[in-house]
Amino acid sequence: MSRRVRAVVLVEGVVQGVGFRPFVYGLATGLGLDGLVGNDERGVFIEVEGAPSTVEEFLTTLRKSPPPLALVERISSGLVPATGEAGFVISGSATGGPRRALVSPDVATCADCLREMGDPADRRYGYAFTNCTNCGPRFTIVHGVPYDRPNTTMAAFAMCADCAREYHDPADRRFHAQPVCCPACGPRLRLLDSGGEEIAGDPVEGTARLLGRGGVLAVKGLGGYHLAALAARADAVTALRERKHREDKPFAVMVPDLDAARRLCDVDAAEEALLTSRAPPDRAAAQARRRGGGAAGGAR
Ligand SMILES: [Zn+2]
Ligand SMILES: [Zn+2]
Repeated sequence: MSRRVRAVVLVEGVVQGVGFRPFVYGLATGLGLDGLVGNDERGVFIEVEGAPSTVEEFLTTLRKSPPPLALVERISSGLVPATGEAGFVISGSATGGPRRALVSPDVATCADCLREMGDPADRRYGYAFTNCTNCGPRFTIVHGVPYDRPNTTMAAFAMCADCAREYHDPADRRFHAQPVCCPACGPRLRLLDSGGEEIAGDPVEGTARLLGRGGVLAVKGLGGYHLAALAARADAVTALRERKHREDKPFAVMVPDLDAARRLCDVDAAEEALLTSRAPPDRAAAQARRRGGGAAGGAR
């Protein structure tokens, strides 16, 4: 048997919730390496075993082209005796050490997810909580590290068989995406009146209708509430200001896209870059509003 080495690697920085484990899995299995990858309180830990040159190639790729959403601060590695174990696994997260891992910010709904949301044949058609390994909520849903589903507000939603298949399939875009869900198993939209009674009909359309009539709505998302009123209606904004006791502080104005923002104000290059970055105001919410036919102003 040819000589084998086993490298133990620790990756620190914003490396959880950014698809790092699936990335390492794909890289290692593509190179035919054995070992494991997991999250812990410090970041991502990896053990890879195989021919010295292949292990070296793995480490070089890891340093040169980590997953696009990751912000790697430090990669440390060392060699340990080879164990001869075959196969590569994503191991359970290790806990118990001091918490140093950084969690990714929320990431704007990606083009693939938006396409699914707009496709009547897709099982996530119109589903407001659509996400994948490349996008979706992170920081707003975690209450602890390692970043794993039990440490998020998604813990209460057991995955359905379809979502579980995606979650466990290394070839799937949702491989180890912690907040993965769908209309069958994930959170659902409901519209309630001020007495807590459910209002029948499509909740998004109903919300747009109420906003159009000058209503003030509390929109609950995965991470918390924001209050919304139609910015173009002075009576609605006045009601919101009175209730919030926020007489003169500015509110955030929500728009569906860059063109709409340009119609309201000057947008320079730096602002455009922020608005269209991976972590802008929620594009999925904008998509849902567009579907409902109403553009709403909002306030957090
Ligand atoms: Zn996505
Ligand atoms: Zn599901």
